[in-house]
Amino acid sequence: MSAGLNLAQLDAVNHLGGPCLVLAGAGSGKTRVITHKIARLIQAGLAAERIAAITFTNKAAAEMRERAGHLVGRDAKKVVICTFHALGVRLLREDGQVLGLKQQFSILDTDDITSMLKDCGGTTDAATARQWQWTISGWKSAGLTAEQAMKEARNEDERVAAAIMERYQERLTAYQSVDFDDLISLPLKLLRDYPEVREKWQQKMGHVLVDEYQDTNATQYELLKLLVGERARFTAVGDDDQSIYGWRGATLDNLKRLPQDFPALRVIKLEQNYRSTSAILRAANNVIGPNPKLFPKTLWSDLGEGEPVRVVAADNEDHEAERAVARIQSLRANSTHKEWRDFAILYRANHMARAFETALRRANIPYKVSGGQSFFDKAEIRDLCAWLRLLVNNNDDPAFLRAATTPKRGIGHTTLGQLGTFATQYKLSLFDALFSHSLPSAVSSRAITALHEFGRTVNDLEYRARHTTGHEAARTFLTDWLKDIGYEQFLYDSEESEKVAAARWSNVLDFCDWMAGRCGGQVADEAGAQIESERKTLMEVVQTIALISTLSEREQDQNVVTLSTLHASKGLEWPHVVLVGVNEGLLPFKTDEADSDLPAEVLAQRVQEERRLMYVGITRAQRTLMVSWLKRRKKGRESVPGTPSRFIKEMALDQATVKEDPREKLRALRAEFAQRAQDSAATKPSPTAP
Ligand code: ATP
Ligand code: MG
Repeated sequence: MSAGLNLAQLDAVNHLGGPCLVLAGAGSGKTRVITHKIARLIQAGLAAERIAAITFTNKAAAEMRERAGHLVGRDAKKVVICTFHALGVRLLREDGQVLGLKQQFSILDTDDITSMLKDCGGTTDAATARQWQWTISGWKSAGLTAEQAMKEARNEDERVAAAIMERYQERLTAYQSVDFDDLISLPLKLLRDYPEVREKWQQKMGHVLVDEYQDTNATQYELLKLLVGERARFTAVGDDDQSIYGWRGATLDNLKRLPQDFPALRVIKLEQNYRSTSAILRAANNVIGPNPKLFPKTLWSDLGEGEPVRVVAADNEDHEAERAVARIQSLRANSTHKEWRDFAILYRANHMARAFETALRRANIPYKVSGGQSFFDKAEIRDLCAWLRLLVNNNDDPAFLRAATTPKRGIGHTTLGQLGTFATQYKLSLFDALFSHSLPSAVSSRAITALHEFGRTVNDLEYRARHTTGHEAARTFLTDWLKDIGYEQFLYDSEESEKVAAARWSNVLDFCDWMAGRCGGQVADEAGAQIESERKTLMEVVQTIALISTLSEREQDQNVVTLSTLHASKGLEWPHVVLVGVNEGLLPFKTDEADSDLPAEVLAQRVQEERRLMYVGITRAQRTLMVSWLKRRKKGRESVPGTPSRFIKEMALDQATVKEDPREKLRALRAEFAQRAQDSAATKPSPTAP
């Protein structure tokens, strides 16, 4: 048990009886404490299913489950390892009925919400709807009802948003649907207002562990407090210097409140960094230096000085990408870390990936864009999800609208508009309205035939889904059923290029496989033996889909270079990191000049959060770090002069900017040719991104 843990980590792992906070800098083994503590709790006799470990992303959850698996074997499968939102789904599925929520509730995605808000506010402008969404989400995550929001509204815009929030909430109830904020606020309500539910969950949760605690928001903290109750058996680990989600409502107050709310709190600090060389760590410590100190920390590494951090000035975006790729090729040729997965290119904003994708593709280097367009955002997958959501919850009107029109089946917008008016008048869901005796008074007879046929198809599929296991449903029935509704043909009809249609159909089949895997049943374990994994119903899987942003399972074993935003890189590590676009205006990020109207204190806080983001970026690197900035950068359609970010100066590197080394370019070219020769001999690797 003590293998691979230092004394402070052991202390945290062995503190089982009460509240514990591990507060430490990057790479000091906080996440490692959580995985080892799961094993320790099981060893001490706590049933695995009574342990909950809360991670920041689904990907982090999958990784933690795998690591816990190495320590405790199959018991790891029983531990609840998930995000706060996924935990919210569990609570609502088990006990949401007391709030009037059916077990088969739907979770709406951002697009559904935008179109619902457009409808509620009578606008066709998506930007306005998204602004409302942002405001309403802020209110909801602060725990306000529509009525309270109206009272708190400070101007006309907010009053309009509060009025729309009321209509929006009514629709959510009618559709038996929830949004992401509800996944925290409704469980909170459940635990706060229903003592018997609260007691049940407090009994159930023997110990709760929270990773990346610094990025929790106020409602998540309240939820945690209610989950652990008076016994306060929890372990939170975090780093105030890595708090990078303030813009989404995360608050460092949660760190400050912990010792006040739990006087018995044991605070443990970790000081040794096991990830990075001293040169990298020094740059990181220097950067974070100017930020106000909430909790002073020291961080050291005994991995040796290592290579100096490099700073590169690139002429423009294309040149920067070229140099990043040359660096990767040269390191790969000369370092012990030769796998593509050992490299990451990190940037501030999603759109910055493009130049690097082009350069990597040209060099024939496989890569993935992490946090880019999600598999689940692809139109064909959203179509299938709409169908599945409708089968599971007939009241899900947004899903109804998508399924009824995909593939086309003679139900047009006029018909849907008439059906909608009728359903609102009689307070019915669209699906229930289909079968109403009075419907013929509202809709033409030709449309009625098409609507009834659609209703029958849904009923038929639902019947079949209910009479098969989730696994079977996903394996055979999904593909059969897709034939029944003519989905494959629909893809070929709607795409000009057969190749594109085939790729989309192949995504559909991948999705069916993924569903089947998720529904449990017979699966192969690591050694290839067939074992029985936890069975899930179709409903359970459908509800989880809304929470997943990537097909994380598929990503794990890919030997590819990672392209990622700084935000999405949190908690991860790579031997070699290239941090790009480190310019004033990009990092720290500046949206527009209007920001300068903001009070100086707000602007200063923004820069502090950006500085933490830079700190997160630097501390992802284990062995080498290259930081580059643009002498000229694109701003809209223009090319404007660029200046290096203040954070580069703050790293206080005792070296000049590295000039482009012609030998490196030559080495990179040689590596590229060698790679091409090797690839044409073997199978050709292809980038995984679209
Ligand atoms: P971050 O702040 O970035 O989330 P962290 O504090 O969670 O980092 P980990 O990811 O847990 O740090 O650990 C960083 C690296 O150090 C990992 O590769 C981990 O395996 C290794 N590590 C942690 N503790 C030890 C230890 N006691 N001995 C050897 N290696 C360790
Ligand atoms: Mg971590």
